[in-house]
Amino acid sequence: MKVEIVQVGFQDYRFDIYHTWKLFFEEVELTYQGDNPGEESESLTSSATDQAVSSEHWRMTIQLEENADSSELGTAKAHVLLEQFHPDQEPVAWVNDRSQELRSTTADTQRREVKRLICKTMLKVLEEATGLDMPWGVLTGVRPTKLMHNLLMKHGREYSVNWLQEEYLLTEEKATLIADVAERQLKVIPDLFDMDREVSIYIGIPFCPTKCAYCTFPAYDIRSNKGSVNSFLDGLHHEIRETGRWLTQAGLGITTIYWGGGTPTSITAEEMDALFVTLHESFPAMDRVRELTVEAGRPDTITPDKLQVMLKWKVDRISINPQSFTQLTLDKIGRHHTVEETVEKFVLSREMGMDNINMDLIIGLPNEGVAEFQHTLDETAKLLPESLTVHTLSFKRASKMTQNRDQYEVAERDEVGEMMDMAMQFMQDNKYVPYYLYRQKNILGNLENVGYSLEGRESLYNIVMMEERQTIVGIGCGAVSKILFPQELDPDGNEHRKIERFPNPKDPAIYNQSYKEYLAKKLKLMDEAYNLSIRG
Ligand code: SF4
Repeated sequence: MKVEIVQVGFQDYRFDIYHTWKLFFEEVELTYQGDNPGEESESLTSSATDQAVSSEHWRMTIQLEENADSSELGTAKAHVLLEQFHPDQEPVAWVNDRSQELRSTTADTQRREVKRLICKTMLKVLEEATGLDMPWGVLTGVRPTKLMHNLLMKHGREYSVNWLQEEYLLTEEKATLIADVAERQLKVIPDLFDMDREVSIYIGIPFCPTKCAYCTFPAYDIRSNKGSVNSFLDGLHHEIRETGRWLTQAGLGITTIYWGGGTPTSITAEEMDALFVTLHESFPAMDRVRELTVEAGRPDTITPDKLQVMLKWKVDRISINPQSFTQLTLDKIGRHHTVEETVEKFVLSREMGMDNINMDLIIGLPNEGVAEFQHTLDETAKLLPESLTVHTLSFKRASKMTQNRDQYEVAERDEVGEMMDMAMQFMQDNKYVPYYLYRQKNILGNLENVGYSLEGRESLYNIVMMEERQTIVGIGCGAVSKILFPQELDPDGNEHRKIERFPNPKDPAIYNQSYKEYLAKKLKLMDEAYNLSIRG
C-alpha cells in the first residue's frame, strides 16, 4: 500500500516513521512531501486528493514543535493526522496529539525522546485507524529485557514497569513479562552482572538431515555434504584446541558451552566423542563449567549411541524439538521426521538418564491455527519437558518460506495473539516460568519468542547470550562470536558496552579453506578486548 507522508517542522526520523507503519502493514511504500507549502512530494507528482479520484490513498501529516524552556530542557509536541481517501466515498480521518517534557541532557538522548514521541503519536492514530493493538508499543530491538535490567538497576520494579508503559506504550502484560523475566534471570544467575572473568562457548555444527522451510541457520543437508564433513571436523578440532590455549593463557574460565548449528547430532557418535575428547583436553577447568548443552534438535538424528556419548561426557541439557505435533505441518515445512519419532526419542532420552530436556514449539506454522496449536500443547502436556521455548514464526528474508511466501498460508494476527495467550496459560497451568525473551523483525503479529522452564531448569547459556553480559566465543561454521569490551557510562549515566560481532563463515566449503585465518582474527580481537597480547 502507498502512503504519502507530510512532515511539518522537521525532516528527520524517516527510518522510524517507516518502521512504525511496518508494525501494521506487511507491505507499505512511503513517499514524502516537504514542509514548504506548494512543494511536491519526492516521488508523487499528483496531490493526494487528485489520486483519490482514481484509487484508495492514505496521507499522514506529522507536525512537530519543540520549545526550549528556561531550564533548556524544553517540551516537544507532536500532532498526527491520518487521512484515508476512497474513490467513491468521503475521506476518513484520525488524529492524535501528544506532548512531552524533554528530560535528557544530551542532544543524542533528547533526539531519542523526540523520536519516541513521534512514533507514539503515530502508533495511536494507526491503532485507531486499523483496529489493531500493538502490545509492544513502539519498543523496537531484539532484547527488551536488557532495557529492563538497566531500569531495575536504578529504580524499583513498579517504576520500571510503569515507565515502559508510558515511554513506549507497552501493555501492562508485556511490561510485567519482561520484569518477571529479568528478575528470574538474576535469581538463576546472581552474578549476571559480574561475569567478566569467564566466557561462554558456542559450537556450530552446520549440518542437518534436511533443511526446514523457515530456517536461515547455517544448516546444510548432511547427505549431500558428506565430503566436507571430515575437513570441517578437522577445522573444528583445531579451533577448539587454539581457543582453549588462548583462554588458559588469558586466565579466563568458561561458564557455559552450547552445541548448536545446524543439528550437532547429525554427525556420528564417534565424531561427537572425539570432539568431546579435544574439548576436555583443551579447555581450562572443565569441572567448573556450569552448563553443557547439546541442541540435538531433530529427533531423526538422536540414537542410543549418541545419547550414550552425551551421558558419558556429562551433557546437562539437550533439546528435542517437535515444533508441531501435526504431521501435515512437519511435512509441509520439510522436517522429514514423524510426530511419533519425537515422542519415541524423548522417551528414549529420559529412559537413558537425560533429566533436563528442552522442546521448541512454533506458533503460526503454515496451515496451523488454534486447533492445531491446542493439539501441540495437549501432546506436550503428556511429556512435560523441563523447558519449553515458544517461538512465533518469523519470515526471515533468506528462508525458503519467505522466498515462496504465496505457497504458505499462515494465521492472521488475532489468531497468532490467541495462540500466544494459549501458550502463556499452558505455562502457568503447568508451573513453567518465563526466563528469557527476544524479539525479531518480521515476526508474526509483532510478538516475541519466550523461553519457559520449570523452576531451577533454566538454560544459563540462553540467559547470558541474550543479555550480552559476557563474551560468547563462537567456534565452527556460522558461529558468531560476540566479544565484549570494558564497560563505560554514557553522559546520562547509562551503562554502555562495545560489543564486537565476529561471524565465522556459514558455508562449510569456505570455513574449511579459511578457518585458520578467521581464528587468528578472532583471537586478535579478543586480545584487544581483554587488553592482552597472547596472539601477538
Ligand atoms: S533442524 Fe533446525 S537448524 Fe536444521 S534446518 Fe531445521 S530449523 Fe534449521
